[in-house]
Amino acid sequence: MLKRCPVCRGRRLDDNTCGRCGADLFPLLEIERDADIACARAITALADNNHLLAKRCALAALCKRKTPFRQTLAAFLETLPT
Ligand SMILES: [Zn+2]
Repeated sequence: MLKRCPVCRGRRLDDNTCGRCGADLFPLLEIERDADIACARAITALADNNHLLAKRCALAALCKRKTPFRQTLAAFLETLPT
């Protein structure tokens, strides 16, 4: 979740537009949402023992937005056999 505007670093409210500089944050929020969905799919695939799908989804999430959790998840999944 974006906590600050990437353009002006102003605090972002629950709006698609920065209240400070007016930047349209919707595209970034969409990418972040897609990353969250990919991460959830990775975890579901892991629970189903589908390691290959889990790895692919985790990497997709990581490419969209890197977070410590996603990095750890992707690194863990790389240790599993496919
Ligand atoms: Zn801004």
